[in-house]
Amino acid sequence: MDVRNCRTCGKLFNYMGSGKPICSACASELEEKFFQVREYVREHKNAGIKEVAEENEVPISQIKQWIREERLAFADNADIGIECEKCGTMIKTGRFCKTCKSNLASDLNGAVTRPISKQPEDERKNSTNTKGQARFLDRI
Ligand SMILES: [Zn+2]
Ligand SMILES: [Zn+2]
Repeated sequence: MDVRNCRTCGKLFNYMGSGKPICSACASELEEKFFQVREYVREHKNAGIKEVAEENEVPISQIKQWIREERLAFADNADIGIECEKCGTMIKTGRFCKTCKSNLASDLNGAVTRPISKQPEDERKNSTNTKGQARFLDRI
């Protein structure tokens, strides 16, 4: 048995070995919060991430996590976004921007059909170019 402290309320609970280390009470509370936030975002299409967090009393980091999990998505013109994990471009949902997503997809396909046609030199250049931008966006 794997007993842990709930990350949210600190109570001891029996950790099932997968998912977030929070107790079932907090998990269902979080789930309710999620539906509340999703409803809020649907009604306030232009709400910023800070506003959504404050109005729903949810930490910004939690909202970002839902975005990463692609459970939450925002309108293209909304003042909201997270950074692409690869290049730092502002995105509305998921972990990567469209470009990186299709690059990853073709990388995966390439691994099967043409394994040695990568260009590491170019990739390195790209990631240093956008690092500063990613850090800047992080502070918003
Ligand atoms: Zn808890
Ligand atoms: Zn990207």
